[in-house]
Amino acid sequence: MKAVVYKGPNDVSVEDVPDAKIEHPADVLVRITSTNICGSDLHMYEGRTSFEPGRTFGHENLGEVVETGPAVSKVKVGDRVVLPFNIACGFCKNCDRGFTNYCLTMQPEPKLAGAAYGFADMGPYQGGQAEYLRVPYGDFNCLRLGEDSVEKELDYVMVADIFPTGWHATELAGVYPGDSVVIYGAGPVGLMAAYSAIIKGAGKVMVVDRHSDRLKLAEQIGAISVDDSEVDPVEFVKDQTMGFGADRGCECVGYQAHDPGGNEQPNLTLNRLVDSVRFVGGLGVVGVFLPQDPGAPDKLAQQGQVAFDYGNYWFKGQTMGSGQCPVKKYNRALRDLIAGGKASPSFLVSHELPLDQAPEGYKNFDTREDGWTKVVLHPAG
Ligand code: NAD
Ligand code: ZN
Repeated sequence: MKAVVYKGPNDVSVEDVPDAKIEHPADVLVRITSTNICGSDLHMYEGRTSFEPGRTFGHENLGEVVETGPAVSKVKVGDRVVLPFNIACGFCKNCDRGFTNYCLTMQPEPKLAGAAYGFADMGPYQGGQAEYLRVPYGDFNCLRLGEDSVEKELDYVMVADIFPTGWHATELAGVYPGDSVVIYGAGPVGLMAAYSAIIKGAGKVMVVDRHSDRLKLAEQIGAISVDDSEVDPVEFVKDQTMGFGADRGCECVGYQAHDPGGNEQPNLTLNRLVDSVRFVGGLGVVGVFLPQDPGAPDKLAQQGQVAFDYGNYWFKGQTMGSGQCPVKKYNRALRDLIAGGKASPSFLVSHELPLDQAPEGYKNFDTREDGWTKVVLHPAG
C-alpha cells in the first residue's frame, strides 16, 4: 500500500510499504479516506524527535472499516469511523479513569505512558497517512459516524484530534460562560480552542498570532485577533479586561514558540500566558513541550527545559492543566455537535490533497505559507 514515509529532517515521500493488517484478535482494519497533517507531525518532520526514518506519520484519521478481528463485536465492516489519535486499551489503571491519553497497556516502554498512531515515543504503531490503518482494540478506539459522514467528512475528521484538543484546552483552563479568554497560537489547535470557547459562551475571546491568514479565521468565528508583531499581547489583553487580565488562557503553540522576529523562544508563550491572565485565573496548556528536543537552539532547551516564570504564576495563584488530550472524553459530544449542526470545525481547512502531494502539504504547512492553515490528505482519492 501507499503511505507517507519519513525520510529525515524536512523530508517525506510517498512510497509502497507493507500492507497494514489485522495482527491481534481485537484489531480493526480501516481504509483511510481523510487524514490530516497536524502541527504535532511537524515536531517529527523537522527532525526534533527520535521518529525513525521509514515510519509513517498520521494520527488524525477517518475511514471505513474493511476487516475486523475475531474478538471485535461492536464495530462492523462498512462502518464509517473517526479514530481518536490516542490508542488506548480501555482497561488499564489510567484508561479506567478516563485518561486514555496515558494508556499503560499500549505503551511498551514502562517509563512512558500513552500511545498514538505514527508518533515518536508513543509506541510502535504506524500512522494513517496511508491507504489502510491497523486500529488496535477496535471496539474501543473507533467512534462510529452516522449517515452524514460523507457529507460532513471534513468536519468529522477534526474530531480525531484538534477539535477535542482545542476543547480540552478550554476545559483545563476552566472556561465558563461569560469568561474572557486569551489564546496563544492561531494554528488549527488555537483556532479550535477559540471555537470551543465561543461554543461554551465565552464573553470575549482573544487570539494571538502573527499570521494574518490565521488571524482572519479567528475573526471569522467571532474572536478578536491580536497580532503580536504589531502590539504587545499582554498589554492588549489587559486593556480589553479593565486591566485585570483575561479570566482564562490557553497555550496552543508549544516549545516551538518564536518571537515575531523569527527567533525561537520556547518560554515566550507560557510566560505571556501567565502575564495576561488575571489572579486566580485558569490556564490550559496543550501546546507540546517535550522532555528532549534535539533540534533546540541551546543546551537547556535540548533537555526540554524552558525558563518558566514560576514566581509570577505562584504569586497570581493561577491553576494550570497540561498534556495530551484524552480524545475519548469529548469525541462523542463533539461528533454530536457537528451532527446537530451546532459546530462545523472544517472552516479551517485550506487544502485537500491526494496522498501523492503530501510532500508539498508538509513543506507549505511547516513554513506556514500564506493560506496553508490545515491540510487534509485523501489516500482513497
Ligand atoms: P501550528 O504549528 O500550525 O500552529 C502554531 C501557531 O503558533 C502558528 O500559527 C504560529 O505562528 C503560532 N506561534 C508561534 N509562536 C507564537 C507566539 N510567540 N505567540 C503566538 N503564536 C505563536 O500547530 P497546531 O496544529 O495548531 O498545533 C499547536 C500545538 O499544539 C503544537 O505544539 C502541537 O503539537 C500541539 N498539539 C497538542 C495536542 C495535545 O493533545 N496536547 C494535540 C494536537 C496538537
Ligand atoms: Zn494532531
